[in-house]
Amino acid sequence: MRRHFRAVLLAVIAVVLVIDPWDASAESSIWSRIQGFVGGARYRFQGVAGPDGATTVSQPVPADWHRFDEGASSRLAILLTDPASDWLALAHGLRTIGVPFTITDDYRKALTHRVVFVYPRVSGQVLSSQALKALADFPKQRGTLIAQHVLGGGLNALFGFDEAEPEAATQLRFLGDSALTRGLDDPAETSIRIGGRQVAPVGSYAYSNPKRPPLAVYQDGRAAILNDETGRAYAFGPDLGYLLARGYNNRQQDIARDYVNAFEPTLDVLLRVVRNIYRSGEPNAVTLATVPDGKPLSVLLTHDIDYTRSLTNALNYAAFEQARGISATYFMQVKYVRDWNDDVFFTDEGVKTLQKLRATGMEIGSHTISHTRAFRTFPLGDGTERYPDYAPFVRSKIVAENGTILGELRVSRFLLEHFLPGYRVSSFRPGHLANPYALPQALTATGFRFSSSVTANDSLTHLPFQLTYSRETVAETPIFEFPVTIEDEADGPMLDRLPQALGLAERLKRYGGLFVLLIHPDVLDQKLEFEKKFVESQGDGVWYGSVNQFGEWWGVRDQVQVDAIEKGGRVVLTLSAPQPINGLTLDLPDAWSLVAAPAGDPIVPQGNRLVLGFFSGKYELIFKKTP
Ligand SMILES: [Zn+2]
Repeated sequence: MRRHFRAVLLAVIAVVLVIDPWDASAESSIWSRIQGFVGGARYRFQGVAGPDGATTVSQPVPADWHRFDEGASSRLAILLTDPASDWLALAHGLRTIGVPFTITDDYRKALTHRVVFVYPRVSGQVLSSQALKALADFPKQRGTLIAQHVLGGGLNALFGFDEAEPEAATQLRFLGDSALTRGLDDPAETSIRIGGRQVAPVGSYAYSNPKRPPLAVYQDGRAAILNDETGRAYAFGPDLGYLLARGYNNRQQDIARDYVNAFEPTLDVLLRVVRNIYRSGEPNAVTLATVPDGKPLSVLLTHDIDYTRSLTNALNYAAFEQARGISATYFMQVKYVRDWNDDVFFTDEGVKTLQKLRATGMEIGSHTISHTRAFRTFPLGDGTERYPDYAPFVRSKIVAENGTILGELRVSRFLLEHFLPGYRVSSFRPGHLANPYALPQALTATGFRFSSSVTANDSLTHLPFQLTYSRETVAETPIFEFPVTIEDEADGPMLDRLPQALGLAERLKRYGGLFVLLIHPDVLDQKLEFEKKFVESQGDGVWYGSVNQFGEWWGVRDQVQVDAIEKGGRVVLTLSAPQPINGLTLDLPDAWSLVAAPAGDPIVPQGNRLVLGFFSGKYELIFKKTP
């Protein structure tokens, strides 16, 4: 969409003299206006300037595992043996998959739970001899034990192997059927990617000379997961936290086979395995489903407006979505600088169209100002960037000048909110999914809450997750990420790819995945046709919402606490939600029947599921267990 600036230069000289939306505030001569035009003329909204005040990015606050040290013994207990590990990514993963958990460094406390996950390692260096003996006895007392990296302390006898040895494999394969692998029936799930050529194989161990057949092996045939003789203890060879952090922090390098438009469920499989073990070992295991309203799939329709014609085309997409009762998300490039990319389209005229789009009930998010790959290496900025002075200029495919991360975020948000009075912009997607390391904390500082800045394949997951400071492992941010599943540009005309997209949706429905569709409304025809056909094929069978709607729901679900206490054949299940939530769905153990619930919205049973109505704060349900 490159413009031939010089070819239209003469025409523009005349225009500059007549109308004055082009910024020439500090420049008086015609010639300086022309130079400004060549160097990136700004569209000037009269009387608009801001935002006021400065943005401060806070310093990282290291996450403290003690915050997770709470709850009843029905939860999975993580026995943390080294706080300098990827426990935070593991905690985020367990939140995502909906397993209630606690974290402790006290083995006695951990062993009051029925399912214990020793993370990140078992060895005489991190556990006392009493603790090691108690862990070894735990499965015999009907406890379920996940022991990651059994490196010493005599527990190799429990699992029946000789040595734990560093392992450089890139694939892990589950063997046979067990409680562990329930629901893993896709070839991409029974064999998962855990490493790549560029990723140093940190964190995996193989167990040598196993006496029992392994439950999972690496591609070299060495044992990756072993059972004990009771079948209730598991020795894990890969490091779950490390792999989760690789994916969530967008640092997978070449673990994934594809960048986008494919199925790459590494993290989902590992989390489902832990959930399977928890559900089989804890009789009162209640887990949170990942999709609202008991539906099998969350579908977020998203559009990036980053081209002149896309804005008016967007109204056609919105008309279809509105007619179907769907709120989609439109990420709007706030394009008031003319540059190598394109002409300006965030103008008085463009703003009118944007207001019409918003009036159809669609979410408006930010798609930056400059829309450049160079965003990935932009400096953070000083937080005082303001319209109209902030004027990033894109010079080529990879070169952009005068841009900052904070400038892109705070100025785009300011202008969108200025022209959408009373509206709060909460979602962000960068152009080209250029993802600077400082993005999570910059989003936090500028008031964004939701991000769709990476692809699902590049994150090794088809579920949402929480972002960390600088995409590292130490500090949390409150931002949630909703990665892109299917897009319209990488692999040819998307209508031709409809069967694959529908197939992927079916695979994700088996475990409550997230399906984020990205369509640029630069054209209508085959892309709009794709969207219509996709929506028609799903009927009422999936949950639809904007990034903001899903994000609001997901953010509350992520904080919901779940505790079960059994008293004489009855189980009191206590949920606690910090904010109101609707459509939270519980997966219950077999043969539970609800005997008492608070007054309020009806609760809808769905097999072993319960779909809850609106509630907030503490919410108590009483169940009878039928033997
Ligand atoms: Zn874009």
